[in-house]
Order: sequence, then structure tokens, then C-alpha cells
Amino acid sequence: MGLQFQSLRSSSSGNCLLVRTDQTAILLDCGITTQRACRRLFDQHLGSPPRLHAVVVSHAHGDHICYSALRVLGDQNIPIHCHGEVVQQIQDKHVGDWDCPPRLRPFSCDTFQIGDLEVQPIEVPHDPDFLTFGFVIRAGRKKIVVATDFHQPQAVAEHLADADFIFVEANHDLELLRLHWNPSSLFHLSNPKTAELLCQARKRRCRPPQAVMLGHLSRQRNTDELAMTAVRERFEAEEVALDFRLAVAPRYAASEVISIQ
Ligand SMILES: [Zn+2]
Repeated sequence: MGLQFQSLRSSSSGNCLLVRTDQTAILLDCGITTQRACRRLFDQHLGSPPRLHAVVVSHAHGDHICYSALRVLGDQNIPIHCHGEVVQQIQDKHVGDWDCPPRLRPFSCDTFQIGDLEVQPIEVPHDPDFLTFGFVIRAGRKKIVVATDFHQPQAVAEHLADADFIFVEANHDLELLRLHWNPSSLFHLSNPKTAELLCQARKRRCRPPQAVMLGHLSRQRNTDELAMTAVRERFEAEEVALDFRLAVAPRYAASEVISIQ
């Protein structure tokens, strides 16, 4: 199998990304809003009982971790790794006095290991009330970078230089944001900023990443076409070769599986 990535859900209604090797399967975030939908998603993608070693949570917003997912993960005794401050927020916001409480395991900003996956948290600027992380994940010599829910490209730029696969937010189109104004969109990366981030990263590298997937697109304020076009046009304008596979994660369905060679 090698290293594989699949976006299972990617929108403000729920985020859940699967990273796995032959030995280890983890989810990055699990913002699935009913217990039934969460169990069905696990059945479909992880088998029954789910072959899932851990969930790693970026931050405590409900589209990334929520009551229903915490109930299911608690019942199935699956460890949930999140920053120490985020553990407290999850407990305050989502968890009650349950028979099977979720196994919340705090991480610091240091790299930690889950099976044969090495997980390095990267703090990113998002909602000032919610500490938020992107992640660099390594398996052997392969490296993937996953970052959504941030508004400054510089926060992740240095990590993209030698990544084999990149999953990055392209949240909104600026014109659609003007038409459907939402102040919390400002906590997210716009299409032009995503395009700039990817273009600058490609300029600094000698070889392209194997693939890039855009995710966490706003339903009202973005389309697949607008996000892709913003990236393509930026590369063209800067005369940088777009010589890698560029895809968009479906909001409410699973994406293709990306196998990192
Ligand atoms: Zn968020």
C-alpha cells in the first residue's frame, strides 16, 4: 500500500481526512455531525470494527471534532491526539459525563509517533480563540503536509519545499465573499493566497510534488472551478510550470485515493 491519503469529507459541514500505510491508519479531524453518519463512514473506509489507530485533531471547531464523533470514538476506545490546550476546549465544548469518555491525549508542539507515521504539528493562525494546527506527516522518506483553517500562507510555506503531497485549504473566492459576506471567512485562506502559496513553493523546489489537493472550499463562497483557475492563472502569470496533479476535495463525499510513491 505504501503511503495513502484520502479526503473523506472537507467542508464547513465536516472535515475528516484519512492517512494510512500498511501498518497504520489515522484520521486527521473527525467533524462528522451524527453518530450514524460517523459509524457509516468508518464502515465504508476503515472496515468493521474500524482499523483505525488514532484521530489527530487540528482544533476544537465543531466541523473538525464534535459531540457525535467523540461519542463514537469513545465507544470504540480510539485515542484522540490534540494539543493540551485543545484537550481542555474539547472537554468544555463537546464532552459530558459519559460512560465511555473519549481518550484525549495531549500533544505539545513536538513531533510524535503513531505506528509508523511521524506527526509534526505546525501551529497556524486561525480563530484567535482556538489554537489551531496543520500537520507534517512522514512515513519513511515520504512526506505529506496538511493545512486547513489558517489565513497566513507564511505559516506553512517552509514545510512545502520537499513535500511529496500537499493538502491545503482554498476556502473562498474574494468576489463571492463580497457578495456573501461572512467575517469568519477572514480566518481562512482565500483562493489568491492559496495560489500564491503553491506558486512560491513550486518556485523554490527542484522537483514538483506528486500531487496537490485543495480542500475546505466554502459552499457559498467558492467553486471547484474558481479555486483551480486561481491556482492555474497564478502559475501562468509567474511562468511557473504547473507540473503536478491538482485536484479538489469533494465537500460531502470521499475523494480519490492518492498513493504517494
Ligand atoms: Zn476552524
